[in-house]
Amino acid sequence: MSKRDYYEVLGVSRDASEKELKKAYRALAMKYHPDRNEGDAKSEAHFKEAAEAYEVLSDSEKRSLYDRFGHDGLRGAAAGPGGFDNMNDIFSQFGDIFGDMFGGRGRGGGRRGGPQRGPDLRYDLELTFEEAAFGTSKNLTIPRHVNCETCDGSGAKPGTSPTTCQTCQGRGQVHHRQGFFTLSSTCPHCQGSGEHISDPCEDCDGKGQQRVEKEVEVKIPAGVDSGTRLRLRQEGENGSRGGPPGDLYVFLHVQESEVFQRDGEDLHLKQEISFVQAALGCEITVPTLESETTLTIKPGAQYGDKRVLKNEGLVRVRGSGRGDIIVHLDVTIPTKLSKREREILEEFAEEADIPVKSGGFFKKMKEKLSS
Ligand SMILES: [Zn+2]
Ligand SMILES: [Zn+2]
Repeated sequence: MSKRDYYEVLGVSRDASEKELKKAYRALAMKYHPDRNEGDAKSEAHFKEAAEAYEVLSDSEKRSLYDRFGHDGLRGAAAGPGGFDNMNDIFSQFGDIFGDMFGGRGRGGGRRGGPQRGPDLRYDLELTFEEAAFGTSKNLTIPRHVNCETCDGSGAKPGTSPTTCQTCQGRGQVHHRQGFFTLSSTCPHCQGSGEHISDPCEDCDGKGQQRVEKEVEVKIPAGVDSGTRLRLRQEGENGSRGGPPGDLYVFLHVQESEVFQRDGEDLHLKQEISFVQAALGCEITVPTLESETTLTIKPGAQYGDKRVLKNEGLVRVRGSGRGDIIVHLDVTIPTKLSKREREILEEFAEEADIPVKSGGFFKKMKEKLSS
């Protein structure tokens, strides 16, 4: 099945603002939300399609790729929309949108008593071009929340215990009608815990949790680019009531190279050679990722000529092999000539019968005029 245009999916114009995108996506997510369309495969497909479109268009980098190259533009990107296989991924990714709609926990959330998966975390990691090119390993310090030891996570002062929240009768959610729907949202009194703490634990201010920092090692494969998203399973926030931890998403931001211009796995390089070298041929040294190499330029090279160094580019993160380095020749012409250089060039011009403004010509004119 061919993919629908993302703007069409969301029903917005191509120059839609971030706000318009969000509004359009919210409306679709409301309409096709699985809680309202239990077991309807068509709605689920619409729901996923909208989430994918929003994922791309709400990310300025992916959006510009999509604008320029369409769906193909995203295929190569390691972080391209893999589509959403798992509905929970959609809820965790766009938590802010579902947050005010459904009480922050998405589908199945809010059911109290059972194990609760911990929230996902996002970490933005900046890499140098070289780190991205060769791969590296980084230790990230991730702030996380763990159960307070003093109160064992209950939030109540030791010796006391929480009572049932009266606002929501311990359900953690309150319901209100909006149009045809009954919407549930997090209980404003207990923030969804369903409990009321009259005597809070002093060590955690009744939150039941403490902030700790944990070191997580993340291996960066060679060839990654900005926009690549690495997922570290179960390295997010801890779950509650025995639920599994969430995931940690590491978003990569790769600095530009000072030498190469990157285009996916290919690297472009502008190499200056003198017009004399271009005419007569030469050997030049050009940088590669690992070191450098010698290129033989045959006589008669032209400005803009390309030389391709096969498999010298970046490692393909998806797939095998490497991209290429493409050397673009930039033929330079001197702006100043010595007297001798000028004479030689004038001689060349005469030999090749090329009309030029020669120093000799002006000199002769001057001599004629003054005689
Ligand atoms: Zn405590
Ligand atoms: Zn409550």
